[in-house]
This record gives sequence, structure tokens and C-alpha cells, in this order.
Amino acid sequence: MRVVAMAVTSAALVAALAACRAPVPSGMPAAAESDDAAAVELRRQSARFAATELSADLTDLPPNEREALAHLVRAAQVMDALFLEQVWSGNETMLQALAKDESAAGKARLHAFLLNKGPWSRLDHNEPFVDGAPPKPASANYYPADATKAEIEGWIGSLGTDERSRATGFFTTIRRGPTGRLTAVPYSLEYQGALSLAAQHLRAAAAATTQPTLKAFLEARAAAFASDDYYDSDVKWMELNSSIEPTIGPYEVYEDEWFNYKAAFEAFITVKDRDASERLQKFAGALQEIENHLPIDPAYRNPALGSMAPIAVVNTVFSAGDANRGVQTAAFNLPNDERVIREKGSKRVMLKNNQEAKFQKVLVPIAQVALAPSDRGAVAFDAFFTHILMHELMHGLGPHDIRVDGRATTVRQELKDTYSAIEEAKADISGLFALQYLIDQGQIDSSMQQSMYTTFLASAFRSLRFGIGEAHGRGQAIQLNYLLDSGGFVVNADGTFTVNNDKIRDGVTALTRDIMTLQAEGSYAKAQQMIDTLGVLRPQTQAVLDKLSSVPVDIEPRFVTAIELLK
Ligand code: ZN
Repeated sequence: MRVVAMAVTSAALVAALAACRAPVPSGMPAAAESDDAAAVELRRQSARFAATELSADLTDLPPNEREALAHLVRAAQVMDALFLEQVWSGNETMLQALAKDESAAGKARLHAFLLNKGPWSRLDHNEPFVDGAPPKPASANYYPADATKAEIEGWIGSLGTDERSRATGFFTTIRRGPTGRLTAVPYSLEYQGALSLAAQHLRAAAAATTQPTLKAFLEARAAAFASDDYYDSDVKWMELNSSIEPTIGPYEVYEDEWFNYKAAFEAFITVKDRDASERLQKFAGALQEIENHLPIDPAYRNPALGSMAPIAVVNTVFSAGDANRGVQTAAFNLPNDERVIREKGSKRVMLKNNQEAKFQKVLVPIAQVALAPSDRGAVAFDAFFTHILMHELMHGLGPHDIRVDGRATTVRQELKDTYSAIEEAKADISGLFALQYLIDQGQIDSSMQQSMYTTFLASAFRSLRFGIGEAHGRGQAIQLNYLLDSGGFVVNADGTFTVNNDKIRDGVTALTRDIMTLQAEGSYAKAQQMIDTLGVLRPQTQAVLDKLSSVPVDIEPRFVTAIELLK
């Protein structure tokens, strides 16, 4: 097939990008006098991402597995270059120009460009920060730059079934042929050079490892880069049982803001966290017992929980592409292929060291502002992360399949647009309930008792900072206000917040009961009322949020373990 304007990501771009990455200034360099105001402003914007060394413990890995890991980091570097190309056709040229600019302002621009994977600030509604950059294209580089959304829609509508499924598929770009006609180009062709390079690194890693499920995934994924058929390798990713847990390829579709059809390249190269995985197993074994003790009408409890969706707790060695731009991912669910999900389910991967970095750089400073001095010492990562684990597990407990007026239905169907905020609030609050239950049973150390409620309170402000327009934020507002009203949380005269140990347990139990009961009843009206009255930012909360402007929004990781591996 002949196609004009087909991009060929070169090995040179991969190398250029890797070279740029290393000397990126970490933190804010001192302002030189010659700096213009724009450079100062740009550094201020970038500093909202706190520079953070991200490391992973590899002491359990023998030399051959470390070698495999190094090959995987190299494969992931290719995803960085591929994603850059997917975001905008002008990115490669602009990167090369920015990399040549030795001035302080030039360095600030390069830094911001690498952070955002393009010349637009993702935290600021894609405001451009490089002169001459056009508005960020909503079509990214997946569709011809001169095409309109209406033209693409009209063309897709004119296609037969097979052609249409190719055109709307995850793994094709839309380009113009020599006569200007639109055509779907498979990723294996569009990104041939880069994908064959990535496949070589995956095969080298497969040759180095002695872990059978890892080897099988890597070989299948390398083959998929050439065939565009990701099914087999997605299945093998679900079956991974190894100390190294790589996720690499085209996955999420958010960057295609026209249609959410096209998958962006990304990589999370990670190693399994043994302690957390063991803790997760222990919790999983207690789930039926927790369900049997939920504070709801026994008729609403599920006497036989189904098997749990797999969860992997890992530490990031290196992330790239769509997985490393702007705000960092804390956890993800994959794959997105409906067929794999039907047959094998999906897996949740939780990035523990990313979360610990966010905790240290964002949550601890928030606690200094939001909490009373006597509460601040109780904020602890162990409580934070254990609660997140429990949150994920609790999504599986409580009412799901319900009956309303004798009709079989689901909570999701009945709660409609209120479902996500209510379900997120449920997972949070019942997560606290479950941890308290396990503490009372002696299955979790009682030291958690002190820290979990206080850490949860500080973490509420972290979620609310992103606003209540999104399910997690709105769910968090419901909980904070409910617990204020029931006396479990108290606002002090100086505006700081405190946990009231005498009332917090009862408040948590009561809210768990209220939410799960409205879910069991499938009551849209009650859900709507809860959101209207409690899913709001009250003045005392807003006053704390207003004081958080100097606290970083997120982290900018420096992958020290990967740098060490590549030496
Ligand atoms: Zn959740």
C-alpha cells in the first residue's frame, strides 16, 4: 500500500529522546538574570510536578532477569518516541529544535515539552507554551492534519462492515492515499521501524528470562507489533505470573479526542511487590467474612462472593509514552479489548512506588495545611496504601445484582449517572469499615487504628483538589460532609480538621449502611439526594483548598533504577 505522509519513527528519534531525558533539570534551577518572564513562569508551571527519584528494589532478581529488565526499559523508550509522534505530527521537529537551544529559557521549554509530551500544558487546558505551536489537535496525529471530523465521520459511514471495523479499530491510523482518498493504515505499517526495534528488545528480554509466563507474553507481544493482532498477547498478559510485570503496547484511547478509537503507545515496566502481594492475598481470604458482617440487612448480603478479579501490586522501574505525560498514573485496569475481558477478565495493576512518591510529595504537605498539628503525625503511607488496596477489593462486595419491584436488575442500571460517585464513595467508606473489622479481629496490627482515619481525612483534600466534577472527588465530598455532620470529623477554630476518635467508627458504619442500602434498593432518588446535599464543597473545605496552591499537584519521576540498569 502506498500512502503519503506516512510517518517513520526512526531509531534516531528514540536515541535523541533518551538523550534529552537524562539531563533534564530536576527541580527548579536558579533563575539566570537573562531569563525572560516567560521562562520563569514556565519553570513555575513545571514545578507543580515535584521532581522525585523513583526506585524499585531488585535484590530478588538474578542477573539474567535484570538483563531482561534492561531490554524492557529499552523497548519502553521506543514507546516514548512513538507516543510523541502520535500526539502531533510536528513534535519530532520541535523536539529537535528545542534540544539545540542552550539558553535557560530553552532548557525550561524542553523540560516542559518532555513533561507534557508536546508543547501544550496538560494541566492548563492544553495552553501552548512554545512560540509557534498551534492549538493542540483534538485528532492528534491519528487522522490527516487537513481532515475535518465531519469528513472522517462521513467516510466511515460510507464503508462496508469490514472496512469500517478497520477504520474505527484501535490499531490503525487514517491517512490519505496518493489521490487524496482516505484509507486505514495498520500500526504495523505506520510505525514499522519503531515497532520492529521494540520487538527486537522484547525478544532479547524473552531470551534472557527463565520465567515461562513472562517469556510467553514477550514473544507474543513482539509478534503482535508486526501483525496488529493483540488478542493472544493480551491473554498472555492476563496469565503473567512472574517477578517482572511489563505492560507495553498500544492501549488507551484518550489522546484521540475526536472518537476515542485509536490506541496510544505506552509502557509500564515494573517488578512485583512481594509484601503487598502477600497482604492482598490475606485480605482476599477474608472477603466473605467481611461481606457476612456488612452493616446492612442480612438479606442484602451476598452469601457466595464470586472469584476476585486479579490485582497486581508492583513498583515502577520505568514508564513511557502515554503512561508518562503530565499527571502520573497510580493504578490501571487492562486490557481494553472486550473479547479478552469477556473470556479472561481484566487485571488491575497498582503502582506502589508511584503512590508512595505522591504520598510523600503531595499528601504529607497537604496534611500540614489541612490537619490540626496533633493529627499530622498520624498520617502514614502504610495506612494510605492499605486503604487503597481495601478500596479496590470492596468494589466487589455489597449489592450488585439486585431486585426492584420483583424485577432483576443491577445497581449500575438503577443508579444511572449517580452510579460512579456513589460506588466510589462506597468503596472508600466500606474500605475503612473493613479495615476496622480486621483490626478488631486481630488480623491487622492495631497501630493502623490511629493512622487510618487521619490519613483518610488528609487524603480527602487531595482528591477534592481535582474538583467534584469527577466521580472520585464527588464521592469524597459525600464522605467528608457526612462524617462532619455525624461528628467523626471536626473543624477547629483555626480552620484545620481533626478526627474525633469517639465518633468516627460509628460515622463510618452508618455511611456504609446508608450507601449500601440505597444501592440494594436501587434507589436513584436517594442517590441523587445524597449527591445534591453532600456531594458539595462547603466553605470550610474550600478555605483549606485555597491554602494548598503551593503544594505540588503531582510528581515528575526520575527513574533511578532504570538509569542504573542501563549503565
Ligand atoms: Zn474505585
